[in-house]
Amino acid sequence: GGRKTSERDLCFTGASAGIGAACAVEFAKEGCKLILAARRKEKLVEVQQQIAAQVPGVSVQPLELDVRDRQKVFDAIATLDPVDILINNAGLVIGLDTIATVTPTAIDTMLDTNVKGLLNVTQAVLPSMQHRNAGHIINVSSISGRETYPGGGVYCASKHAVDALTRTLRMELVDSGINVTSIDPGLVETEFSIVRFAGDRNKAEAVYKGMQPLTPTDIAETVVFAASRPPHVQIASVLILPSAQA
Ligand code: NDP
Repeated sequence: GGRKTSERDLCFTGASAGIGAACAVEFAKEGCKLILAARRKEKLVEVQQQIAAQVPGVSVQPLELDVRDRQKVFDAIATLDPVDILINNAGLVIGLDTIATVTPTAIDTMLDTNVKGLLNVTQAVLPSMQHRNAGHIINVSSISGRETYPGGGVYCASKHAVDALTRTLRMELVDSGINVTSIDPGLVETEFSIVRFAGDRNKAEAVYKGMQPLTPTDIAETVVFAASRPPHVQIASVLILPSAQA
């Protein structure tokens, strides 16, 4: 990682909303060149416009991409300049169903996106980092990668898998010039926290009642911190929680 943060090329997955969109804004302020990937192109263009208004002159390339589509991921990455920092943030939770009741579609969607999607993008980007002996891979996992709770079985399994992949990758890349970081947030107020109750705001609010959640910007600032250390400093993992979440 010889280059300063301000000269680096970044690729984000899940950049169209929530934590990923907030990261895009914060890294734009650092002067990075950004590739913003997600499925909803129109949302990516909105983020691009927001950045153009706040931080004029920064290069932002929207990239319509479903991380589950392995071939398209490899084809898309092959068209890009080498990526200095990869942020694997695309992820989702569907429902809060017990293991007895969770649907096959929910199981597939969570595991395909959170685990296999992350692997697809990582495998597509890694060779160019290894070629240059430089880079940084930052995985957005979750407190759900460290703990479990009733109704969270499959999501927690997916994030525990992310944790296993992150730690394995860090060992495989030891002293390679490529750093590996896990960012593990607790409750963050994003689209996701509504989506997890299928749009039922009352239900969502009941669970989070009395707790001030983190904002996507709180997470983005932490990601920027991890990405802007000197190359010999590897922030291995950061557990970041709202003060009211034990
Ligand atoms: P949002 O739902 O707000 O954003 C999720 C992002 O992921 C969107 O940009 C979405 O874009 C993208 N995404 C989803 N599926 C795919 C796919 N198949 N291919 C490409 N992009 C995809 O959620 P958050 O910002 O909250 O979540 C971001 C990450 O943070 C996730 O990994 C989540 O697990 C993690 N997290 C969130 C917490 C929270 O409380 N909110 C707590 C801890 C961790 P699009 O739909 O356009 O594809």
